[in-house]
This record gives sequence, C-alpha cells and structure tokens, in this order.
Amino acid sequence: MTVAKTTAKLSMVLTAVTLSYPTPAAQTAKVANSPRFAHVVDLTHALDEDTPYIPVPSITFPFRKTPIATIAKNGVAAYRWEIHEHLGTQIDAPNHFFEGGLSLDRLPVDSLVVPLVVIDVSARAVTNPDTSLTVADVEAWERRHGRIVERAAVMMASGWDSRIKDAKAFVNADASGAMHFPGFSPEAASFLARSRDVSGIGVDTLSLDPGLDATYAAHKAWLATGKWGVELVANLREVPPVGATVFVGASKVKGATGGPVRLIAVW
Ligand SMILES: [Zn+2]
Repeated sequence: MTVAKTTAKLSMVLTAVTLSYPTPAAQTAKVANSPRFAHVVDLTHALDEDTPYIPVPSITFPFRKTPIATIAKNGVAAYRWEIHEHLGTQIDAPNHFFEGGLSLDRLPVDSLVVPLVVIDVSARAVTNPDTSLTVADVEAWERRHGRIVERAAVMMASGWDSRIKDAKAFVNADASGAMHFPGFSPEAASFLARSRDVSGIGVDTLSLDPGLDATYAAHKAWLATGKWGVELVANLREVPPVGATVFVGASKVKGATGGPVRLIAVW
C-alpha cells in the first residue's frame, strides 16, 4: 500500500472513530457500572449561575461562565470562569480567618481521604431553621454508633440541600437581611477539634456557622485548629451515619483561602 493510500485509509478510520464517539449518557453509564465500590455518592452540587451564595455587598457575586473558544469557531472549546473561593460546594482553609494559617495547597493530603461521620439534624431543622449541631448531638451519635474514629470528617445533614434549586429559600434571609439556616455551634466545632481527632467538618448549608451568627464563631473555633471545613455539601442523607470514606478533591491553588471541591463518598 502506498503512503498516500495508507494516509487516506487512516483518515477514514479516524473520521469513523470521531463520528462514533459515545454519547455523554453512554459514557456515564459505563462509569456507573464500575465495580470498585458497592456505593459511590457524589456529595457535590453542580455549580452554575443560580448556585446560592452568601450575599456580601461589593464582595461576593454569582458564578459566571462564558465561552472563550468554541469548536465551531476555534476547533477547541473552553470557558472563562468567574468565581470567588467560597462559592458552590467548596472548602475553607485555616487562612480564610487566620493570617499565617494553612492555605488550601498546604492542607495535608492524608486529611483529605478520611472516614465520614454524618450527623442528621434534619428533623429539627424542619421546625427550627436556626438550629445548631451541638455537643449533645455528637454525644447522642456516639451512644448509637460508637466513638468517632480518629481522622474522621464530621458532617451535618440538615436536609437543606433539597432547597438547592431555589437560591432565595436556601439563603432564607428575613426582611432585615438576617439569614436562617442550620450550622455547627462553636462549642461542637471546638469539641470535635480538641476532644476528638477530627480532620474536617462539613455542612449542607452555606456556612459552618448557623445563618443567624454574624461573628463566624464556629468558623473561628474550627479553623483556629488548622483543619478544613466544607460547605454546600450535597446528598449527605444518602450516606450512612458511619462506614463511608470521603474523598475531598480540593483544588490546589497556592495561597488560596479555599476553593471548589469535588466531594465523593464511597463504602
Ligand atoms: Zn466557610
């Protein structure tokens, strides 16, 4: 076969490969059938322009994504993202509140793949959106499931993620602007850091602190101990209270105070 003929044949094969590229649905199905773990749950909300965030005048803004290249025009597709570090399912590093605290890129990687403890306060949150996860909740959980294992991440499931498509209900601000959603009490955050060897904490709401707190008391109590926190966590009520492992796929930007995270639970 001549070189020209071989090239022509190769290009036909390549065209056929391109045309038969599997649809996104087919690709997803293939991954879903992977037998590596019996259960894999995505604890991450997909980020888009409607994702709720804490409104801080002239500081925070919604996510934006605009094309900088398209396949039709450039032969390759890419977007520009406009984002701040604390938007969407994201992680807080200690330097979010403490100068000289660990930045996102310096969090020990072995603290990002850890046993997952889920404490469900959703029954209380239905009637009282200002409720906190307390030391008593931690103790009640331990009476049922045993002492929280070393290095675990402890996350609050309040059921708030069911509001994700309604940013107004998610932020839940009253006429005065005060927000109403559950979070950790500072005492519980401090207890988990100092009396249990916990690696990270998480909430399915917008903040480690309850919405009503204007002083970031739980953030400060927790991040002062050099550990991480995650917010806007999804699907925690699909994960058992004990027995799963969470992978915290934090972005690694030098000096960052936080950033988007892909959270996945497996068991
Ligand atoms: Zn935070």
